[in-house]
Amino acid sequence: MHRLLETPALAEYQSFLGRESVKRAVERELDRARVSGGEAGTDGMHAIVASVCERLDSQRRATLMRAINATGVIVHTNLGRAPLAAEALAAVADVGAGYSNLEYDLEAGERGSRYARVTGPLRELTGAQDALAVNNCAAAVLLILDTFAKGREVVVARGQLVEIGGGFRLPDVLQRGGATLVEVGTTNKVYVEDYERALSPRTALLLRTHPSNYAIAGFTHDVTGAEMARLGARAGVPVVEDLGSGAPVDLAEYGLPHERTIREALGDGISLVAFSGDKLLGGPQAGIVAGRAELVARLRNNPLLRALRVDKTAIAALAATLQLHRSPETRARIPLYRMLGATMEDLWERARRYCDAIAGLRTVEHRAVVGGGALPGSTLASLAIAVSTDDPGRVAAALRRGKPPVVARLDDGRVLLDLRTIAPEEDGEVLAALLALR
Ligand SMILES: *Cc1c(COP(=O)(O)O)cnc(C)c1O
Repeated sequence: MHRLLETPALAEYQSFLGRESVKRAVERELDRARVSGGEAGTDGMHAIVASVCERLDSQRRATLMRAINATGVIVHTNLGRAPLAAEALAAVADVGAGYSNLEYDLEAGERGSRYARVTGPLRELTGAQDALAVNNCAAAVLLILDTFAKGREVVVARGQLVEIGGGFRLPDVLQRGGATLVEVGTTNKVYVEDYERALSPRTALLLRTHPSNYAIAGFTHDVTGAEMARLGARAGVPVVEDLGSGAPVDLAEYGLPHERTIREALGDGISLVAFSGDKLLGGPQAGIVAGRAELVARLRNNPLLRALRVDKTAIAALAATLQLHRSPETRARIPLYRMLGATMEDLWERARRYCDAIAGLRTVEHRAVVGGGALPGSTLASLAIAVSTDDPGRVAAALRRGKPPVVARLDDGRVLLDLRTIAPEEDGEVLAALLALR
């Protein structure tokens, strides 16, 4: 046992899995070898070390670890959504390593509010009177419904009753929030008059949702945010918009179709908007509500806020990310915007280095997607490295077993590695993973 644990391969696992779990894996493997009467001597020992490594590798893959996203889906929920900027990571390290003024007012020397730490930067980014950050966008929507719509009615267009990934279905969330859903319009068409007819003394909110992961095309009619805001103002009913991804900037600047920005939604007169921190903001998991001061104040006073509160590391990363959004130059340092902003020349240059390094690789034109429910159906020009193989499933699985794992895209019998979502700093690791395939 002792000699086995000292072998370099197993010693390495002990550094991140701990000596005890490596020891347990060795014991189990020794038991198995005894029962099956495995080989003795050095060969037997090598076989045991190899089996233990395999066992530990599969254990390791179940823990949370960095992975390389070669799928071309930029905001990939399963792969952890937005990578954080170096500045955001530094803020997490700084605040996380010690104490902080999280809920302490340094000016007055007394208790302060954690929510105040990001109010200023959020107001600056969105142009809202006031703003609040909670655990995620789903929590933000739940808090809004619980605060304003419990036991009352919420009017939503049929075409916007979305299900986004991970079991977030708007009708179910409304029910959980204690609100009664009033559906208006048809799947493809809704008019201002539909909303108007649905108004009653029980109406708490008019709710608009970003369709997120689908688009309704063809014979359609929608009510704009501005029209809904005007109706809400006339009727004295707040209009809430779940923006989902929440564009802080016009994505047309990155060659994508225009997506209504957070600022535009508020400029339309929407009373409250909700959006995610880790989608188009490119920051940590968080949900942000921004809008009219008296409404945000009511959210702040809801006791449910305590259960949805955002933690200090997320606040640190969010504040640093918001800081980077203050100018186009600093925004380009956010990984999400670096990926969106990479030119085709940059990608061709990197592709050439891959093909020069390994014979048999090809460069193919590819379409990356924003993901995260932003801009459904629209894509961004990109390049992918194609690995030719008779068995794409096996190659993709081998890449997933790498250190770090590389998650590729299977397309038409080919394994594709999209360069837009692979950070240039990761090229060396991807090349090593490709070399290891042979
Ligand atoms: C993604 C999304 C949400 C949920 O956001 P989380 O931050 O993951 O909770 C809610 N609504 C819409 C429209 C979305 O696209």
